[in-house]
This record gives sequence, C-alpha cells and structure tokens, in this order.
Amino acid sequence: NTFAEIDLGEALNLNIRRCKYVKPTPVQRYTIPISLSGRDLMACAQTGSGKTAAFCFPIISGIMRGQGVQRPPRMPRMAFPLALILSPTRELSCQIHEEARKFAYQTGVRVVVAYGGAPVNQQLRELERGVDILVATPGRLVDLLERARVSLQMIRYLALDEADRMLDMGFEPQIRKIVQQMDMPPPGIRQTMLFSATFPKEIQRLASDFLSCYIFLAV
Ligand code: AMP
Repeated sequence: NTFAEIDLGEALNLNIRRCKYVKPTPVQRYTIPISLSGRDLMACAQTGSGKTAAFCFPIISGIMRGQGVQRPPRMPRMAFPLALILSPTRELSCQIHEEARKFAYQTGVRVVVAYGGAPVNQQLRELERGVDILVATPGRLVDLLERARVSLQMIRYLALDEADRMLDMGFEPQIRKIVQQMDMPPPGIRQTMLFSATFPKEIQRLASDFLSCYIFLAV
C-alpha cells in the first residue's frame, strides 16, 4: 500500500516521490481509487488529513492522460480550465495552488490561482498564459466569469474543498452560479469531488444537487 503501486502516470509518481510521500493517508487510500475510477465522491475529511493530494492526484493524472479532454475553442483572452478547485479563502487557495504546482511539476499541467482581496490584473495575466487547473475562491471566480475572462465550458473535474466553510461564509449562491455554467460536458462526464469536515443538511443538499450517484466516505 504505497504510492509506487498506484499508477498515476510517470511524471506524477515521480513528483510524489520528490515530495517524499510514500504511503497514502487514510483519506487518500479510500478516495484516490474511487476518483480514478471516475466516480463522484463526497468525503468527510478534516484539515491535515491529506485531502489536497486526495483531489489533486486524480485530477492531474486524468489531465495528463487526456481523459475526456477536447480542445478548447479559440477565443483570445478567455481561459478554459479543465479542472476547478474551489476553496473558501485566499490562504487555503494559495496553499492548494502551491501543493498542486509541486505535484504538477513537469507534467505539462498548468495550475493557476485566483482569489479575492487582491488586484485582478496579475491573475488575469496568469490566466492568459493558459490554465489546466484553476484554484479559486468563489467570489473572485464569479467576477472573472462576469468579465468573460474564464469559461467553465471545458471543466471535466470539479473539487469543492471545505464545502461546509464555504457555505458558512455565505458562498452558496456563488457556488451554484459557478456550477450552473458547467453544462458543456454533460453531468455524467464531469467528475465532482466534495470535501467537507461536517455533513449538515445544507451540504447533503449540495451533494445531491451536484453529484451523480456518488460514493460517500467518512474517514
Ligand atoms: P492537507 O490535509 O492536504 O492540508 O495535508 C496536510 C499535510 O500532510 C501537508 O503538509 C501535506 O504535504 C502532508 N501530506 C499529505 N499527504 C501525505 C502523505 N501521503 N505522506 C506524507 N505527507 C503527506
């Protein structure tokens, strides 16, 4: 039961070794095979459980292998990410971005972060250089969608991190608006992973609205 035994693609397996991850944490051990099989997933997981890698590895591996990936339309200044990772705060988004970049090193998969409370120009420049995985806070992403600088039409993977915290912070309308824009790959083709420390009614509703015949995991 080591990462060496899980075929995530050569470049990603190498990066995992570089990060000195040898054995998957419990949440990784249970979620990664499910996500690699293409199933939707709702996992109860706390901070520090290793959930960042749990959703990053299947996403990076899937993009590297080009699963279900079509060429985006040619539209200058519009970014077409293939994966979206939503998280509640700037701090968490930056943390996920940093980790995801290490995992994606020399895989050809490009990771960009966009968060509120900071000037948008630098983030726009990064998006213009191309993006495969977009890590974002909900408010800033809605802003980018309204500016027509990001399209969610190609999204193949959606990860919602700390979903309960996002709802506590009042992001539900933004999250719903964001997910509504992802109808290009039909729901059956898009893969969604929802991570939350708690599982109250509001999260259950989100899960039943966004996930299709998903596996529920409490680790
Ligand atoms: P997270 O819950 O994703 O914030 O991860 C918590 C910490 O554990 C981070 O510093 C990760 O780099 C580290 N970590 C995650 N998975 C593993 C693993 N399988 N082996 C060793 N360290 C890990």
